[in-house]
Amino acid sequence: MRMMSLDASDERLGLAALRLSRVPLLFCWQCNIAQDVTQYRLRSDGGIELLRFKRGTQGPDFPYSDYPVFFPEARFELRAVPQAPAGSARHQVGGRPFVLQGLRDIRCKVCRRKMRFLASIADNATGKRTFAGNSGVQTLFHLCLEDGVVASYHECD
Ligand SMILES: [Zn+2]
Repeated sequence: MRMMSLDASDERLGLAALRLSRVPLLFCWQCNIAQDVTQYRLRSDGGIELLRFKRGTQGPDFPYSDYPVFFPEARFELRAVPQAPAGSARHQVGGRPFVLQGLRDIRCKVCRRKMRFLASIADNATGKRTFAGNSGVQTLFHLCLEDGVVASYHECD
């Protein structure tokens, strides 16, 4: 699922070295990708190449029954994160990461260097349903700028 698509030309994000127009933040709550760290390389044609993922499927009712096939699309604007973070998780792109469980040390599968924090996506989605049915969930994204590799995983309270 494409949870978010970042405009790589936005200078605040520091993504120009990727030489891409967009950076998709991909994750899946309905397959085993959600149970481990996934890594994918961004391709110049807008697609991705999966480098690392956990195979298999979840049960039919994971993360909750009657899970939507998609969430309604919405546009968003980046705004500065307030100094004192709210008590609950919120969507965040760049900056100093506000993560409930602490940030994992994720290494790029290509170069083995530590990947930088890129984004955190909270449980609230567009429409009436949420991404995971748990308000303490954060889906985290790291980036290796040199190799154009994104890592994604989730943490839960
Ligand atoms: Zn790398």
